[in-house]
Amino acid sequence: MGRRRRKVVRMPKKHLPKFFSCPRCGKETVRVKIFRDEGRAVVSCGSCDAREEFQVRLAQSEVDVYCMFTDKIYGNSKKVLTS
Ligand SMILES: [Zn+2]
Repeated sequence: MGRRRRKVVRMPKKHLPKFFSCPRCGKETVRVKIFRDEGRAVVSCGSCDAREEFQVRLAQSEVDVYCMFTDKIYGNSKKVLTS
């Protein structure tokens, strides 16, 4: 007796893609870097040099920052003439 079977359940860590596709040039070369200490994130594309900086909250992840990035790029490209 005393035979103990320890079941090691290992959660496969779902890993995030390191690169996102760029809304500007369409290549998968966008990298999101989050500086948690400073509460900011830098998104940059290695292909077309698009680069943006954002403020991030603790709960926000790379994907959220990437969404802000695409919003911003699309927003910029859709700029209409206003007074
Ligand atoms: Zn790009």
